[in-house]
Amino acid sequence: MITIYYTLVSLMKRRWRIATEQEILDGKTTDVYFKRTEEVLRTDNQNPLVYAEITVSGMPEELDWGVIAGIDDALKLFEGKNISIYGLAEGSVFWPRVSSGVKVPVLSVVGHYADFAVLETPLLGFICHTSGMVSKTAYLRKASGDRTLLSFGARRTHPAITPQVEYAAYIGGCDGVSCILGAELLDIDASGTMPHALIIAFQDQVKAWNAFDKVLPEKIPRIALTDTYLDEVVESVMAAENIPNLAGVRLDTTGSRRGDFKRIIQEVRWELDVRGFKNVEIFVSGGLNSEKILQLQDAPVAGYGVGGAISNSSAIDFAMDIVAIHVGDEWLPAAKRGKFSGRKKIFRCPDCLQMDVLMKADAAPTCSCGSNMNLATLKLMDQGTRSIPSRTPDEIRESISEQTSLLELP
Ligand SMILES: [Zn+2]
Repeated sequence: MITIYYTLVSLMKRRWRIATEQEILDGKTTDVYFKRTEEVLRTDNQNPLVYAEITVSGMPEELDWGVIAGIDDALKLFEGKNISIYGLAEGSVFWPRVSSGVKVPVLSVVGHYADFAVLETPLLGFICHTSGMVSKTAYLRKASGDRTLLSFGARRTHPAITPQVEYAAYIGGCDGVSCILGAELLDIDASGTMPHALIIAFQDQVKAWNAFDKVLPEKIPRIALTDTYLDEVVESVMAAENIPNLAGVRLDTTGSRRGDFKRIIQEVRWELDVRGFKNVEIFVSGGLNSEKILQLQDAPVAGYGVGGAISNSSAIDFAMDIVAIHVGDEWLPAAKRGKFSGRKKIFRCPDCLQMDVLMKADAAPTCSCGSNMNLATLKLMDQGTRSIPSRTPDEIRESISEQTSLLELP
């Protein structure tokens, strides 16, 4: 009766369909079959010690290599539980399979199955979408070269997870993010200039730009949106002539008016230069993805604003499977068909990042490039306690950048 009362109160109080942190920790966001499995195992006094690994069969079509992320969040599910976790560090590049056909076990969970069955769903939930977004951003980062890359994806996603989208965008290689809370949690300043709504509210570009310049603190770069009413060249020159400290113009040209976007950008550059505004940079946004950014590689662009290409990234379909079971005093191989059984570890080449997956007792192999591979599998959690400290988003971002500098876009 009391339980029913509290359930009703909690449902009535809920404004949106958002799980609370406690509900996630309690396994309330799980698929019910895990809860039923736990109930059956406990009632029948079965709770085997198992070794379960997390792998992916195939990547979303636009990806070759990926970057695993969301691990730090996932580990928090297991704090204080009798569970140990091995795997790659947050922000590690990975491939779905190695040349022997074995899938890369990005994470492995060791514990009594009934103790963590209900946490499989949230564990995968933490890593599938975040890894998809970080991987996609890493590709966008490579396509953008040294140019500024900003995340504008908050509007394309559920507001409850916007900080997670911005975390993924930032560690994947964005230089800044637009969502205020997302930026706060990353300990950086939010990035962004002005929407078309500001121009339309003034019914006049110059009045809007001037008001922006007058009202906002100096540290905010003066970047004028220059495609609201007139041609991009006309508005960009107007902005440069009217705003004394204009840092840049942003072209967010709508698809139906875009024509040859690269030519438009080149023309804006020329017409600014010829009037002495060589310091005014050009930023572009609107429906950009890696392919479109690569098409603008030799256009005079200082930076890109990217939204849906990050926040709407396909999730990477990681799955968890038991691959070994502890019987007596030894681990026995145990996997469903289609999976490679046994406890494994990942080796990685420091020079080309190729991986190999071997059995737990095997020694480090040599990479096909000639370098010696290193052990990449870390003990991330020991009986419910983190074994290695978590790194800051900046440190993870730097590590991803170092790794992806060794790789090519597919
Ligand atoms: Zn190598």
